[in-house]
Amino acid sequence: MRIGIGYDIHRLVEGCKLVLGGVEIPHHKGLLGHSDADVLLHALIDAVLGAAALGDIGRHFPDDDSQYKNISSLILLEKTCRLVMRGGFAVQQLDTVIIAEQPRLAAYIPQMRANISRTLKLNISMINVKATTHEGLSPIGK
Ligand code: MG
Repeated sequence: MRIGIGYDIHRLVEGCKLVLGGVEIPHHKGLLGHSDADVLLHALIDAVLGAAALGDIGRHFPDDDSQYKNISSLILLEKTCRLVMRGGFAVQQLDTVIIAEQPRLAAYIPQMRANISRTLKLNISMINVKATTHEGLSPIGK
């Protein structure tokens, strides 16, 4: 059994969509990025790649490659899944944490889990998404 970890952060700005776990969440700000900037899925992709010792998201899906411009990160997650399966691995279970002051995310978590479940062909009972704030502390909390 292998375990991987992933981390990602994107800048919150006006005029961008907020997409987390493949769910478009209504909010006055969104995440800036080359793809859809879905930080949750990016961290998940890094965790899966890490467990398989296959590098990181930037190596497989470079952010200066036009084919990934505005792409849904669910597609990147699906490609990642195929990559690790080629190495003889399969994702068994995953646990994630989203840190965000706003908006409240609890209502969107079931759809995020369903999206990940469908993409990885993994039973939803093996997928956990947690959301917390940073209590306004440090640059992340601000
Ligand atoms: Mg990212």
